[in-house]
Amino acid sequence: MQYIVFDLEATMSHTTDMPQYIIEIGAAKVSDVEGELKIIDRFQSYVKPPQMDLLDKRTLKFVGLTTDQFIDSPNMVEVMQRFRKWIGEEDYYLCSWSNSDLRLLVNHYAKERYDLSWVKNFNDIQRPICVDVFQENRQISLKEALTMSGIEQDGELHSAGDDAVNTAKLLVKNIKNIVATTSEDPFAQIICALYKNCFICGKTTRHNDLHLNEKGKKTNRCNTCWERINEENLAKELEGKANIKVQ
Ligand SMILES: [Zn+2]
Repeated sequence: MQYIVFDLEATMSHTTDMPQYIIEIGAAKVSDVEGELKIIDRFQSYVKPPQMDLLDKRTLKFVGLTTDQFIDSPNMVEVMQRFRKWIGEEDYYLCSWSNSDLRLLVNHYAKERYDLSWVKNFNDIQRPICVDVFQENRQISLKEALTMSGIEQDGELHSAGDDAVNTAKLLVKNIKNIVATTSEDPFAQIICALYKNCFICGKTTRHNDLHLNEKGKKTNRCNTCWERINEENLAKELEGKANIKVQ
């Protein structure tokens, strides 16, 4: 199986109900070359939004681009066709840093219909890298993960092409801790607001069973993981105190 690591950039929304438009897609193809995982191909395309005024100042500043880069770019329908073709016929795991780009694909699809047949066997590699590799109970940024892994950053951050390659480098480096799985409908877990995946154990959890923080806001951890982490922290604290006593 190959790995297709993808990343998207989108217009910024100023209010929570303001729709976002995908403006760039980048991807890296990772495959076994004589027993070693390697990045064997790259894909990058800007996407021309339905209206050019969707590219506001804040968005352009964030991605470090000007409107010129988008004027002659293909639209989302064309880009998705090209991307599907680039993926090829060999089977693959689809990987991304967090599942926020999956959400973007659903949200944008509500406004423009395009080929989504390539979305299958999805694996969020941020979770295993944060939780299993770095033993962190929080979402680490791509930049931080690269630094912590001692990987030299390729190109610019917030450029979909470069972010995809950097995510692919993290995948290759940490492959021993990443158990990629297959699933036909990766959208099922994100289109229903009733369920969320626990960031720590990955289990699909009913919204009501997620832990509430002190402010009464839902966290991204299930109650079981929350209690376990609390107990571990408490144990560490007690251990620390015990050490002080011994000294
Ligand atoms: Zn959990």
